[in-house]
Amino acid sequence: MLPSPGLPSFDYVRPETPQEVARLLFKSNGDARLFMGGTDVFVRMRDGFYAPKILIDVKHLPGMREIAFGKRKGLTIGAAVDMNSLARHPAVAEHYSVLFEALNSVASYQLRTRATMGGNLCNASPAADTAPAALVLEANLVLRGRRGERIVPITGFFTGPGKTVMKRGEFLLRIEIPSLPKGAVGRYLKLGRNAHGDLAIAGVAVLGYPDRKAKSKHRFRIALASVAPTPIRVPEAEEILASSPITPEVIEVAAVAAMETARPIDDVRSSASYRKAMVKNLTRRAIESVLDGLRVE
Ligand SMILES: Cc1cc2nc3c(=O)[nH]c(=O)nc-3n(C[C@H](O)[C@H](O)[C@H](O)COP(=O)(O)OP(=O)(O)OC[C@H]3O[C@@H](n4cnc5c(N)ncnc54)[C@H](O)[C@@H]3O)c2cc1C
Repeated sequence: MLPSPGLPSFDYVRPETPQEVARLLFKSNGDARLFMGGTDVFVRMRDGFYAPKILIDVKHLPGMREIAFGKRKGLTIGAAVDMNSLARHPAVAEHYSVLFEALNSVASYQLRTRATMGGNLCNASPAADTAPAALVLEANLVLRGRRGERIVPITGFFTGPGKTVMKRGEFLLRIEIPSLPKGAVGRYLKLGRNAHGDLAIAGVAVLGYPDRKAKSKHRFRIALASVAPTPIRVPEAEEILASSPITPEVIEVAAVAAMETARPIDDVRSSASYRKAMVKNLTRRAIESVLDGLRVE
């Protein structure tokens, strides 16, 4: 039983310009909050974790709902693009399969008509499913503040559970994903308590591509969700896969390295020890699957 059913009251504000948004966010010093799909915000308000006096709607601002793709420039995703629209974009399925799989692993189709990748990243849950994909795709986040825009690489965006480097007055405008190395193949494997609609016990994104300079002739990027205070890359495992010919034994060593990098907690979804074991299994399976894809290419 909720202490006070329904949402607390708030003012709805729809500023005309990004400058106005930044000013309002700065001035309100925590009393105002942005929302995109609201699938995190409204749940947290209902449960009493957030009580913003003002909710700021920015979905109508230029570029917020746009998706653009160019072979050289890569993929640009407005912060307010819902996950279903993004997953439906032909470039996402064709070039960014790891993102496609991550998007489709979030909750349900119904929820994804509202939920955005922008909100998923800004919410900064360690379990955010699109975060490992963004990490292996080396996405850049374009933030807008009172003094203009700045670009933050996703690797430096998360600072703790629910925390990011966004400063007072800043908000996310768009996500920029560079074009990928030739022949890249990606996978996202997620384990939840049920097949659909649950947050991850563990999630593993793997991106692999041919690289003649690597001893193994391949490079891999690996990132994990739900097994550390933030989503993380696992450079130790990546290095193992680059530095000697890839055999089942080498894959196993890399999977163990990923497991050892993970620092999970016990919670309602899983024990920490089970999470660790699942990181190893999912990492091994994802690497094997990416390798199969690379051999077919
Ligand atoms: C039933 C259910 C199931 C779910 N299952 C999953 C799941 O399987 N996987 C998963 O990863 N998540 C899941 N979630 C969580 C949630 O749906 C996602 O995190 C979603 O992507 C959030 O997007 P949104 O657009 O709704 O964000 P919102 O709720 O609108 O915003 C999320 C947070 O980001 C901030 N924010 C939003 N946009 C911006 C911006 N442009 N600039 C700065 N800050 C901003 C908001 O202030 C808020 O703190 C689930 C939620 C529910 C209710």
